[in-house]
Amino acid sequence: MAKCELCDREPVETTVHHLLPKEEGGTFGPTANLCIPCHKQIHALYTNTEIASRLTTISQLKDDDQLSRFIKWIRKQPPTKLMKIKKSNDRKRKR
Ligand SMILES: [Zn+2]
Ligand SMILES: [Zn+2]
Repeated sequence: MAKCELCDREPVETTVHHLLPKEEGGTFGPTANLCIPCHKQIHALYTNTEIASRLTTISQLKDDDQLSRFIKWIRKQPPTKLMKIKKSNDRKRKR
């Protein structure tokens, strides 16, 4: 159990995220410890190519419009509860 570098919740179970995706040459590059919902959300929203082109630091991820909205929401969720991200209704349609 550790702290998520994106939403700052703790204690949470974390997974290792390659800030530069491995597929884009980041195998030995910097990593971040992210809770499972944050990690899933990044990869649900962006392809590895998009991540490699503009989302390779924690602050860039935090500044991203869609992710910052997700972070606001997840900060209100209790850290220990394991959540399942529902594909059907967690992302509202773009207005
Ligand atoms: Zn998180
Ligand atoms: Zn990742």
